[in-house]
Amino acid sequence: MKIFILLVSVLLFYCGTSSPKIKNRNKEVSGSKLSPNELQDGLYAILLGKSFYPNRLTNSDKQEGESEIVFLFYLIKLDKRYILIDTGTSSIATPEITVHNWISPDKILKSAGIKSEMIGEIILTHFHSDHSGGVALFPNAKVYITPEDWNSLKNTNRSVAPKLLAKERSGKVQFVNSSLEIFQNFRILLTRGHTQGSVAIEWLISPGKKFLITGDECYWIEFCKQGQVLSSERTFSLSNNKEFLDYVSVLSSNGTKILTMHDPAVLSLGEEILPRIYKLD
Ligand SMILES: [Zn+2]
Repeated sequence: MKIFILLVSVLLFYCGTSSPKIKNRNKEVSGSKLSPNELQDGLYAILLGKSFYPNRLTNSDKQEGESEIVFLFYLIKLDKRYILIDTGTSSIATPEITVHNWISPDKILKSAGIKSEMIGEIILTHFHSDHSGGVALFPNAKVYITPEDWNSLKNTNRSVAPKLLAKERSGKVQFVNSSLEIFQNFRILLTRGHTQGSVAIEWLISPGKKFLITGDECYWIEFCKQGQVLSSERTFSLSNNKEFLDYVSVLSSNGTKILTMHDPAVLSLGEEILPRIYKLD
């Protein structure tokens, strides 16, 4: 009997200690005692929320039905330098879609000890609000964006347009007119397939560690690797999109990890070190 009680206690203990991580996954992020120094240098995917999206608007091989997508942006921490790739949306509903279980991007970062003022650079892959809607939340950040997409952002997001103008006037917008190396082996690539000024990011950390962040030039990593293009309905230029996807498939076959902004598979490439914050490298 004693052995039975001991076994049950051990089982309960392990169930109790292993499950909270899963339960936490969709919980509200509350204040954390972590200081920024405790977040290691590296690349992180941040999960804002989830939704369902028509397959025909993605690079899926299916034309019918919908699939679950996630809304991601990326954080790079290099010593005291904090860089965001996209910002996610600052409201639960973008003009196109409602994000389920949404939490504001600044709140998620704060849970890791990163205050909005600490973000020094933001690279916007394109102007759509699920990628750029949070840009005004980060007052000190210099924004890298193409002039075409900056104009589209100002024209489509009237409520934040004054803040965007102020940022531009204070010299905090760096226009990207050609491929640009931000730091060693970290480049913005002009893609111009999804929108007129869309970009992607290529980061060669070391010969064995290479990442390509595609923006919305493609959605599903599996199909990105195969060079599967978007539908013409979702492209500014199908030929630019195809050219980039050919590049994606070459890089992928040479060992580069492909990361997109909406594929739930990204999350399984990393470890959830805090609710909604996944360390990829
Ligand atoms: Zn998107």
